[in-house]
Amino acid sequence: MKIIFLGSPGAGKGTYSTRIARLLDVPHVSTGELFREAIKKDSDFGNQVNEYVRKGRLVPDDITIITLKKRIDEPDCQNGFILDGYPRTIPQAQALDEVVKIDVVLNLKIHEIILIRKLSARRICDKCGEIYNIIDIEETLDGMDYNMPAMHPKTPGICDKCGGTLIQRKDDRVEVIETRLKQYHQQSEPLVRYYQSRGLVEDVYVNLGIDRTISRIMKKLKPQTVIK
Ligand SMILES: [Zn+2]
Repeated sequence: MKIIFLGSPGAGKGTYSTRIARLLDVPHVSTGELFREAIKKDSDFGNQVNEYVRKGRLVPDDITIITLKKRIDEPDCQNGFILDGYPRTIPQAQALDEVVKIDVVLNLKIHEIILIRKLSARRICDKCGEIYNIIDIEETLDGMDYNMPAMHPKTPGICDKCGGTLIQRKDDRVEVIETRLKQYHQQSEPLVRYYQSRGLVEDVYVNLGIDRTISRIMKKLKPQTVIK
């Protein structure tokens, strides 16, 4: 099955797409990772990509879609793959349509007020990158029950895994979150509508913590997986 993950920043696209890929036994394809690999290889192509990344510019769409096409033409992607972080715009979605037929678009949803509280309570280890969350969320909003347990370290402020210091990333501060959300609305909502008009979108509320959300996603995917 060929799957795209959409959803607001902080809804957990990276976490869910990685875990679902493992469960379905298909590759997790991220354009960010593809570019990082290309740069490591020190080819002409890698150097070209590196130029953009070094200058802090986005890699142009035509280069991105060629890179992606090469990856999804590989044998391990023939039974399916999960795309994480692409497409982000309508032109990218149209380019992707030319290259491959997507089966389902999972749209992760969460109330913004919850998202902001959850993200601003996120702490990350400055050494190993392990993620923690220091608030429990348990409440009902518009009939949606949120039950998202905190992920505390054993000792406050210290990473369980490596003893590193837990910090708040700049990206997770309220002002930055609000800017990211605004960008998301401008860019991604048209994208959701684009795929809705093709009947591909499955909304998934992320309100129950990781494990229960994973089983909810699998339930949505399973029937289609069996048919394939
Ligand atoms: Zn750590």
